[in-house]
Amino acid sequence: MAKTHYKLIILGAGPAGLTAGLYAARAKMDHLLIEKGAEGGQILLTDWIDNYPGFPDGISGFDLAEKMLAQANRFELNSLFGNVVSMDLTEPVKRLELEDSDPLTCNTLIICSGAHPRPLGIPGEKELAGKGVSYCATCDAPFYRNMHVAVVGGGNTAVQEAIHLTKFADKVTLIHRRDELRATKILQEKAFANPNIDFIWNSNATKIQGTEGVEELHLKNNDGKESVLKIDGVFVLIGVLPNNEMLPLDILKADAGGFIPTDLETRTVVPGVLAAGDIRSKEVRQVINAAGEGATAVLAAETYLTNLS
Ligand code: NAP
Repeated sequence: MAKTHYKLIILGAGPAGLTAGLYAARAKMDHLLIEKGAEGGQILLTDWIDNYPGFPDGISGFDLAEKMLAQANRFELNSLFGNVVSMDLTEPVKRLELEDSDPLTCNTLIICSGAHPRPLGIPGEKELAGKGVSYCATCDAPFYRNMHVAVVGGGNTAVQEAIHLTKFADKVTLIHRRDELRATKILQEKAFANPNIDFIWNSNATKIQGTEGVEELHLKNNDGKESVLKIDGVFVLIGVLPNNEMLPLDILKADAGGFIPTDLETRTVVPGVLAAGDIRSKEVRQVINAAGEGATAVLAAETYLTNLS
């Protein structure tokens, strides 16, 4: 019969989960890493990562994910593709329900389920998703060779991906709801110096229109003035929402945004349940701190297990 109980289960294989997997496998813990899609999480949506130490020339998100997985596999990472749909965290032995297989149980759980792009929620967005509306410049930029695209957002993702898009599109118009970008100064300077990026400030996207694909982006500025941008694609890069649909949010005392609060050791309010990476309630969402939290969580899980026995 297949094994159904583990001392440690790690949910999600982004940078936090893969690092937790590396630490657990290397420590020879009785562990299982569960992932429902491709290993790597959101770094697979990132063209280039310049601020992960150890790669002086930077590294693509895809390559970094591959290297993280290979490193964990070197220590015999035990992993499974599966979709956890719900869980019971009320007993010392935690129980995870999976979509297509038997439930699994564990003594400690590290939640690394990450986050996903936030939608704008405006007319035309859903209808034209995949037909000119995109949430991933890394995935879709090559479709816009010699075209004009809009990027909505003013954070690191929007600015970094606007710069990436200029490798393909003739013109990139970045639309931000304020008159100042949230992105770090170094990215701002790069974007301002790029002749193929222009900026529309103090404006919100209100509607996306087109028949076969995106043709128009409707805007309203903060004075109420409306305008229409003729455009071939719209990249919506306005932050992230938590991947928390499988989590008991009341028991984990999720914050107002649905992210999971922890202490500095990544311990949630439920004994034996840790949270690491973008699902954690926090200000800074970087690959490096996701990885760090994955390591911290395994060490906290080991301490919890030692105190159990
Ligand atoms: P973010 O930092 O939360 O920025 C979201 C941006 O979208 C903000 O400029 C925000 O405007 C805007 N926005 C939010 N909701 C909006 C709406 N409904 N309509 C229009 N605009 C809206 O998100 P992010 O850029 O995706 O970054 C997520 C995390 O990953 C951050 O911690 C970021 O630092 C990190 N990250 C780091 C790097 C890097 O270090 N190179 C690269 C990518 C991401 P306001 O500014 O007005 O709030």
